[in-house]
Amino acid sequence: MSETVLYVIPSDPYFQPDQAANSRAVAQVEELVPDALGDIETDLSDALVFVHGTGLESVSCPACGTQLDFPGWWMAAMDEAFRDGSTTGLAVKVPCCGSDTTLNDLVYNVPSGFARYRIRVWSPNRRMLDDEELAGIGAALGRPVRQIWSLV
Ligand SMILES: [Zn+2]
Repeated sequence: MSETVLYVIPSDPYFQPDQAANSRAVAQVEELVPDALGDIETDLSDALVFVHGTGLESVSCPACGTQLDFPGWWMAAMDEAFRDGSTTGLAVKVPCCGSDTTLNDLVYNVPSGFARYRIRVWSPNRRMLDDEELAGIGAALGRPVRQIWSLV
């Protein structure tokens, strides 16, 4: 049986909170998932991790909205960005309109993103967080956050 996992990650992929901000953010998340069936965990890593939602199947340009070749172009851009196992940056130039953007700013069909810090809720047992709830977590963390839902 698959299990639902809710990830909360900073919109800034490189951001890592200090211990106090981490504690505040986790406490905020705890309040929002009173019926969670599983644990709340956090991960800190030096390397950027791609956190993607279940059902990721297309990606579009944030500048002009063109659907990009997926996984073809996107996978090649990922390989380039993570060539030596770690990345020097997520910058990409999209082939549609030539805009400079980042892998983190592409429009994924399900919320996804890159992070060096994640809050993970196992079986949160609730619907998606609304904007106000996300803003509350962001205020606690000191950075705006994204929610990513995954089935594992
Ligand atoms: Zn474009």
